[in-house]
Amino acid sequence: MSSRYSRQMFFEPIGEQGQERLKNKHVLCIGLGALGSVNAENLVRSGVGELTIVDRDYVEISNLQRQSLYDEKDVANRLPKAIAAKQRLEAINSEVTINAFVSDVGVEELAELIRGVDLIIDSCDNFQTRFIINDTAIKYDIPWIFGACVGSYGLSFTIIPGVTPCLNCLLDSLEIGGATCDTQGIVNPVVHMVTAYQTTEALKLLIGDQTTFRSTLASFDLWKNEHSYLQVDKLKKESCASCGKKRVYPYLNYHFQTKVAVLCGRNTVQIRPPVTVERNFDDSERILVMWGGHVSKNRHLLFCSLGKFRLVLFKDGRVFIHGTSSLLEAKILYYQLLD
Ligand SMILES: [Zn+2]
Repeated sequence: MSSRYSRQMFFEPIGEQGQERLKNKHVLCIGLGALGSVNAENLVRSGVGELTIVDRDYVEISNLQRQSLYDEKDVANRLPKAIAAKQRLEAINSEVTINAFVSDVGVEELAELIRGVDLIIDSCDNFQTRFIINDTAIKYDIPWIFGACVGSYGLSFTIIPGVTPCLNCLLDSLEIGGATCDTQGIVNPVVHMVTAYQTTEALKLLIGDQTTFRSTLASFDLWKNEHSYLQVDKLKKESCASCGKKRVYPYLNYHFQTKVAVLCGRNTVQIRPPVTVERNFDDSERILVMWGGHVSKNRHLLFCSLGKFRLVLFKDGRVFIHGTSSLLEAKILYYQLLD
């Protein structure tokens, strides 16, 4: 094995054997914002064999304060995060296989993304997606590592199907509000604290070190100098609809396969077509220009200003409508112009 990983192999719990194991593992990182940037970079530098990354968004200037995979060039080139991240990660370590997807992660997408995956790292920014990850991970028996942060607060917990409580078991113990970085802000060291917990547990799981596994729910507020480790084993519920005896995986139901979503705090609505079809940008441009839109595009995205709205079209058929938080207004615009 090359000297690239020598310092990690000198670390006794990993050693040469652990490094070899790591090379044969495949991790799925969901979300490539702040947490995803650091988790993905850590895993790629550590020498995981294969990393699948997925994100629904594109790089904006307000991301650069904490999303460490990106720079001003990515903003200027208006790249989707998954594309920019793949370029950067391959430049960091060309030995790792990187699969990148510009996509929303719903029930159907996740069922495809998890094929051959040993571990899922949650780096997304909303609980709706986390509950879909939870039920999918349990259904397919894949460990996943939950992580979240906002303001100066963060938390992380590792969920092992059949062993630990799941996210649904912990539902009452977690504060699941509408707070996001877009409404409450965030200081960037919090990201590194959460990802330190996440990547460390990931490394332990991937090399198979079960003796040091952390079974507590870690939470902290860096600004207020508070840290806590909550013992949650007893919260595993036999009656849990996601991991209990009579499980029904409630978050995999059709009801949760949202096609229209307000992106919290961003004055933006995302619309997903009912069936994923590759969007033809030339056709869309013709129609938008006809309606008086100003259009520019690259290989991955089409941008259009139209009155008070700014539309961003993705190749997978999705549309971001910036300039409204009204589902109705967004839907009317979508069906008028892009359906
Ligand atoms: Zn459960």
